[in-house]
Amino acid sequence: MQNARENAAGRLEIIRNRIERARRRFGAPPDNVELVAVSKTFDAEAIRPFLDAGQRVFGENRVQEAKEKWPELRASYDGIQLHLIGPLQTNKAREAVALFDVIETVDRDKLAGVLKVEMDRAGRQLPVFVQVNIGLEEQKAGIAPAETPAFVARCRAEHGLDVVGLMCIPPEGDPPGPYFAHLASLARDAGVARLSMGMSSDFETAIAMGATDVRVGSALFGTRG
Ligand SMILES: *Cc1c(COP(=O)(O)O)cnc(C)c1O
Repeated sequence: MQNARENAAGRLEIIRNRIERARRRFGAPPDNVELVAVSKTFDAEAIRPFLDAGQRVFGENRVQEAKEKWPELRASYDGIQLHLIGPLQTNKAREAVALFDVIETVDRDKLAGVLKVEMDRAGRQLPVFVQVNIGLEEQKAGIAPAETPAFVARCRAEHGLDVVGLMCIPPEGDPPGPYFAHLASLARDAGVARLSMGMSSDFETAIAMGATDVRVGSALFGTRG
């Protein structure tokens, strides 16, 4: 127990220091980079040491899995901010709005419309990111880069969503830098401030390209089974 707590605190400190060094090196404004600790596949007991060490922002990619562990954790810790970082089906939108604080994966009009209805019903206007399929990969979710500024405008004007940023997962195996730079340029075109990009293997590159939210899983929690 004590060991798990020390390990979590140590890993958090290492990642926070690396974020801080990258942020300084690239001249990002202070406190501009949020660490989203991606706890998918890890159970509540594995997450507690990170909460004990002060981490409050977490990411999960499945509604069902989040439902199984986060209500219990929220009962013991204040100030948790949970990001949905995986694809969302419209029939899970109600549960997602109840469980999460930020939805990072809005990528189509139907989902945007249903989310707005569910947010109104719940009286919870959650900030959202638009997910961009930055490498135009067939198997990946996200709106096409060329359609992104118009989609963001529709999410705001027609669907009434609070769009705060863009999110992407670059193609595996390619150098990520150019994809991150492309997302940053789309965010400028779309008029959104936040950029959710960068994972365990490339978050420093993402910060160099302007990331404001880095999603780090295995470098904190270890390899997933
Ligand atoms: C799993 C996941 C991450 C974290 O990946 P690591 O390589 O373990 O840091 C980040 N973003 C998304 C969307 C994920 O699904």
